[in-house]
Amino acid sequence: MKANNAIGESTLCIQGEPIKLESDPVFEPLSLSKPKASPQCKCGARTVYFRAYNGQSLCAKCFNESILEKTKKTISKYDMLHYGDRVGIAVSGGKDSTSLLYVLNEIMKGHGSKLYALTIDEGIEEYREEAIKNAEKLAEKLSVPLLIASYKDFFGFTLDEALEDRKERGIKATSCSVCGPLRRRSIDLAAEELGVNVVATAHNLDDVLQTFYINLYAGDLERIRWLDPTFRQNSQFKLRRIKPMMEIYEQELAFFAYLNDLPFQSESCPYMDEGIRTEIRVHLNELERKHPGVKYSTLKTILGIASSIQIDSEKSKKIMRCEKCGSVSTGRICSVCQTLSLVSSSA
Ligand SMILES: [Zn+2]
Ligand SMILES: [Zn+2]
Repeated sequence: MKANNAIGESTLCIQGEPIKLESDPVFEPLSLSKPKASPQCKCGARTVYFRAYNGQSLCAKCFNESILEKTKKTISKYDMLHYGDRVGIAVSGGKDSTSLLYVLNEIMKGHGSKLYALTIDEGIEEYREEAIKNAEKLAEKLSVPLLIASYKDFFGFTLDEALEDRKERGIKATSCSVCGPLRRRSIDLAAEELGVNVVATAHNLDDVLQTFYINLYAGDLERIRWLDPTFRQNSQFKLRRIKPMMEIYEQELAFFAYLNDLPFQSESCPYMDEGIRTEIRVHLNELERKHPGVKYSTLKTILGIASSIQIDSEKSKKIMRCEKCGSVSTGRICSVCQTLSLVSSSA
């Protein structure tokens, strides 16, 4: 295991930003200048990770166990998995989703559920190939069947083609707003192909916080409500969507993937919008650095808010179907069909 030389010589990156382990307080377990960090884990082994928000100094083994335990706790707290479920894990090949595949495979052993990995190839040249290879490598190592499905198969074009087309036609839509609905629909279609009833995605605590603030600023209460893990979006959706790692910090997942030598792509998507999400992310990281634990308490507040939102209950009870494709939709035309109408190659 890499744990022994993990501190101080890493080129670990999160979304393209290299993390300097020796300068980050959470990755600074061996510094005795921090009063709470101890060179030894409570089990006696050498500390490799200092969890600033609760003062725990953890060795590699205890750190790994804590990630597994946290995931199990989230799953049981929100009743995410049931005996006999067929679970599709959306694996993009980044640190979060490879960690999720690894962790679920560990904790689901002997639980009567069947695991599958599903990878969506959006068609992003010189970027996706590496991530797909990583997903294949890990799925093979863990003996989890993997389905690779592509935008090309489902929609007849790659994301590269769709975005090029958008540019040519002068359509003002961000890359993520084109890709997002297509990605969600692709996961639904791939899940159907695999015959799974649950899709697990690797959203972490930081993702939930960022999504909350984006929707707070956009005034989108409906999407804030969706952050409640017990909100099943009624039975109109055949698929249950779960986020078993929603209570784990992003940087702990990065460290987990690193510590366990999981193959993951650290380069960020070339189309990633440098929009408000990045600003929120930087701000929250700064706050957490100054006030360890603030992200976790914010998550608790957000989940409380999300679960108490009640919007137009009559409207939400009614099942709406997209006039074009027949999928369950919040409006007359679903977001996928709206997106498809933007890219001429599919229209
Ligand atoms: Zn230990
Ligand atoms: Zn539609």
